[in-house]
Amino acid sequence: MRSAKRSPLSNVPGSVQIDEKILAFLRELPKVELHAHLNGCLNINSIRELAATVYGKETDEFLMLSKRFLTFKKGANLDDCFEKFSFVHDLTASKVGLQRATELVIRDFAKDNVIYLELRTTPKSNANMSRRDYLQTVLECISRARSRYSMKVKLLPSINRGEPVSVSEETVALSVDFCKLYPDIIVGIDFSGNPNKGNFEEFMPALTLARKHGLMLAIHCAEIPNRSEIKQMLMFGMSRCGHGTYLTSADYAYMKQHNIAVECCLTSNIKSGTVESLQYHHIKRLIEAEVPRVLCTDDSGVFDTTLSNEFYLATEAFGLTQTQCIDLTMEAIDHAFASCEEKQNLKIQLDAFISQMTVKDNRVHKTKRYIEKKTCE
Ligand SMILES: [Zn+2]
Repeated sequence: MRSAKRSPLSNVPGSVQIDEKILAFLRELPKVELHAHLNGCLNINSIRELAATVYGKETDEFLMLSKRFLTFKKGANLDDCFEKFSFVHDLTASKVGLQRATELVIRDFAKDNVIYLELRTTPKSNANMSRRDYLQTVLECISRARSRYSMKVKLLPSINRGEPVSVSEETVALSVDFCKLYPDIIVGIDFSGNPNKGNFEEFMPALTLARKHGLMLAIHCAEIPNRSEIKQMLMFGMSRCGHGTYLTSADYAYMKQHNIAVECCLTSNIKSGTVESLQYHHIKRLIEAEVPRVLCTDDSGVFDTTLSNEFYLATEAFGLTQTQCIDLTMEAIDHAFASCEEKQNLKIQLDAFISQMTVKDNRVHKTKRYIEKKTCE
């Protein structure tokens, strides 16, 4: 049954009305989020709560910041989007603000029925905190929140390509260090930031060191059509590729051969102007070419979306069935930086959901194929 509500994205073909039944299914679906930047995931309600903690309600700072956050001019580009992050960074510049922000982001993903979350964040230093303090604060929050929400939360410290190489070296050194204290939380390194800034080659030694210490690499790659850099990144290697917007069919073959999943973030790509509209999103080509791919939000707060919403957009634009949505979640579990046991547990949770749905709705395939009967080594 279709209601008269507006679709979350007005440029989605045939999306004038929302299919409430599909949306309800997607909200109930236990989901796996693999590409989420901590500061970008604060939605407007959480920003208000955070601002109340940091500034107190009704202050001039709060009103000014809220106004800036809500404004998203038409024809925005990547630089505009990075500008939007700067004010959230002000809110998380103190230990209290950072703690609250981490709690709120985890809470919001839990509300959307995300059962496994990989958060990324660039350790920042300022008058209140060193980069070590920053990471310590986020890690302590994740530790506490994990038991509260019974969801698995991991952390990928980020290298911001817009910052000096020396900062990336410090980030990797700290990550390797904290890995000893929090081996089940710090699982990888994210390479991100404004793709118009920095030279990938210069960051390769720090990334190599991270890999040598067993950290997985998630690299923002092919966000813009920089052919030489794309080639360099693929040759260097990665476990997952962020966005992959400008990958060629030859690159697709490479990704498939090396089992590198592309993290697709529909709303993010459209609102930041790297993809013209949803029907032209490369996830369609990735599915056709059978390249590993996962659906993610990127910055759910900045782009005003949720993981359920991203799935919904995919069902509307590309006709994904409920079974295909479950398959995408299964694929996300396979490409998560989780242990074998954790993946088995996530598959058991997904399987329980499928069994439940099979009783309620015979459109979901009756299958138990998700639980692999193998033991973890
Ligand atoms: Zn990203």
